[in-house]
Amino acid sequence: MSKPSFKLGIMGGTFNPIHQGHLVAAEFIWDKFKLEEVLFVPSGKPPHKGNNEIASPENRWMMTVLATASNEHFSVSSIEIERRGESYTRDTVLQLRQMYGEGTECFFITGADAIAEISTWHKTEDLPHLAKFIAVSRPGYKLDIKKIDPRFQKCTYLVEVPALAISSTQIRERIKKEQTIKYLVPEVVEKYIYKNNLYR
Ligand code: NAP
Repeated sequence: MSKPSFKLGIMGGTFNPIHQGHLVAAEFIWDKFKLEEVLFVPSGKPPHKGNNEIASPENRWMMTVLATASNEHFSVSSIEIERRGESYTRDTVLQLRQMYGEGTECFFITGADAIAEISTWHKTEDLPHLAKFIAVSRPGYKLDIKKIDPRFQKCTYLVEVPALAISSTQIRERIKKEQTIKYLVPEVVEKYIYKNNLYR
């Protein structure tokens, strides 16, 4: 009988900043897909993005570590931050398969709006064979699976997460307007943002 493969969730995102919606989504998917571990991978230099309003990779990584520290099946990787240039998902998945073993079953978890654009991602030819994709959406956003790149339709799952009514954009806007962000992010992250004067 062959050994069951290790099921790794790879939570990819800019996490600018990480918030309760991301944490609830990761926990919900860990449970639903019976994953062993969810590895948060903050993007170093997100593709398709200017650098306006993006906190430094080190600050985003630190907030992600603080937010996930108390969960024993969550961990954080700095591989995209350490890699030079743009953060391409294919490179990340290949690197993680090397680190965790080639038989690892990888589930790349990210926002449905990002998955909707997957046909424009870098070097996607073999990506459907390297990982499965979990597109998490906020209430009110419906991703039509038939509208995504046909090569990804069979290996993509759509999951709606009500807690994703919270968004990083909303949090940054609230900070600018000096409105409270209490309970939208973990308390340690809230304190880190104020201490380091982020998103003002
Ligand atoms: P983004 O623009 O920051 O986010 C797009 C949407 O998805 C936003 O609504 C965002 O909400 C949500 N989102 C992002 N990450 C999420 C997560 N892990 N769980 C739940 N919702 C999430 O997207 P991005 O960070 O640029 O891209 C997402 C991931 O796709 C990253 O890992 C990125 O490296 C990868 N990607 C790869 C390529 C490529 O290989 N060429 C191209 C594009 C994206 P919040 O703002 O609230 O997080």
